Amino acid sequence: MIDQQIGALFVQVAYIGASAAFILGLRGLTKPDTARRGMQLAAFGMLLAIIGTLLNHEIVSYEFIIIGLVVGSAIGLPMGLLVPMTAMPQRIAISHMFGALAVTLVGIAEFIYTRDSAGGPGVVKMTAIGFETLFGALTITGSFMAFGKLQGFIPGRPITFPGQKLINAAVFFGAVGLYVTLVLTQSGGSTEAGLIMFAVMTVLALVIGVTLVLPIGGADMPVVVSLLNSYAGLAASATGFAIGNNILIVAGALDGASGFILSILMSKAMNRSFANVLFGAFGGEKAAASAKSAEGLTTRSVTPEDAAMRIGYARNVIIVPGYGMAVAQAQHAVRELAELIEKRGGRVRFAIHPVAGRMPGHMNVLLAEANVPYDHLFDLDEINEEFHACDVALVLGANDVTNPAAKSDPGSPIYGMPILNVQDAEQVIVVKRGMATGFAGIENELFYLDKTSMLFGDAKSVLSQVVTEVKGL
Ligand code: NDP
Repeated sequence: MIDQQIGALFVQVAYIGASAAFILGLRGLTKPDTARRGMQLAAFGMLLAIIGTLLNHEIVSYEFIIIGLVVGSAIGLPMGLLVPMTAMPQRIAISHMFGALAVTLVGIAEFIYTRDSAGGPGVVKMTAIGFETLFGALTITGSFMAFGKLQGFIPGRPITFPGQKLINAAVFFGAVGLYVTLVLTQSGGSTEAGLIMFAVMTVLALVIGVTLVLPIGGADMPVVVSLLNSYAGLAASATGFAIGNNILIVAGALDGASGFILSILMSKAMNRSFANVLFGAFGGEKAAASAKSAEGLTTRSVTPEDAAMRIGYARNVIIVPGYGMAVAQAQHAVRELAELIEKRGGRVRFAIHPVAGRMPGHMNVLLAEANVPYDHLFDLDEINEEFHACDVALVLGANDVTNPAAKSDPGSPIYGMPILNVQDAEQVIVVKRGMATGFAGIENELFYLDKTSMLFGDAKSVLSQVVTEVKGL
């Protein structure tokens, strides 16, 4: 008995330690120079939470847990090692799907387990079980849809059909109605009707996940993934209430709140309202209808030798990294180039747009990996006025985040999105493979300006050539 009390105390102490590590870890992640430590701290918190949970005296047998551990590690380890940074949004989406699946299965198991118990689950527990199953189930299919759209096996364009909003509303209110009825009628012990209601609610929630994501364009998927992260967190928190597990309540609440805040920040960086993301069609029909055509416009291209001359003799260079730098893995080459320019007496700064790449912080992570000093990275607000005084702006695989149409063309789908004022620089060199559009699927006038030179090719190989040329100057 005493052993059991000491064990329970130890579990709670481990949970408090884990909660503190999660909070401090999140705090560390707010700055690039503390992010690595923050991540390690959060991982340590997770280890504490797992150890605490494994010591729970209610565990009947460890066999299934060990099997789960082996299967999970066998899937998770290669996923962590092999999935490239550019595929991170879809990897996160599929992880949410698995998390939500676990939460939903626990919800179903708890419902079946408590329905026959004396006195039933009670109002609080039934509220938690219903909530976790509802949100968990819609997150399973929603995350799978987001994964499919990002991976390309489900069409990325918004899929709409007549009466869609009406059907969506009917499914949504049907599921919520069943949830409320379940709480009101089944808290004192379940009936056959309750079991059917619970099953129908779960199926409707699975349908909601599909109908929620279907009309949203692929370009908005990272925001949707972040929102689903929030749902998965809330569902996990509800699971904590349902099975009386404190660490699930805390971790779920942190996950729910941070996912929600991130979704808002991402929408803000794209100058879109939340409602517009969820019900609009960015990168879809509107983009095709209103994007300006580049017909009749010409570009000027330069060779790596020409580019090296201009960059090598420049005093003030601002580098604008984008998704293409991530695809090409050109971060090491760009760091080498920056060092060379500095050795030659020039100043180099990196301008980081909040949604450059495919997830927030994408550029910061890559540049940190290549050991670019943190004090060389500048946010949009800090650097935007500096382009006027810069000799060369080197745009490295960035497109939408430099598109002047966001300021000048009210018909553009990205109108209003804050952009980096690259066009203010004395000269602009753009590194990309061809004239393909960026994520928003629209032309970029910057590429056709007199001051702009296009340096065509894969960012990594082109930059390596530029580096060799600058070394020879
Ligand atoms: P973009 O997607 O606008 O453009 C990337 C450019 O990189 C393309 O035009 C492509 O042109 C070029 N490119 C691709 N591969 C290579 C390569 N190997 N070498 C050189 N160039 C290459 O990227 P941005 O970073 O400018 O903008 C990000 C977009 O993603 C924005 O529209 C943003 O709203 C959206 N987004 C970002 C989120 C985030 O959190 N970061 C979240 C949601 C959306 P080409 O094929 O011709 O080489």
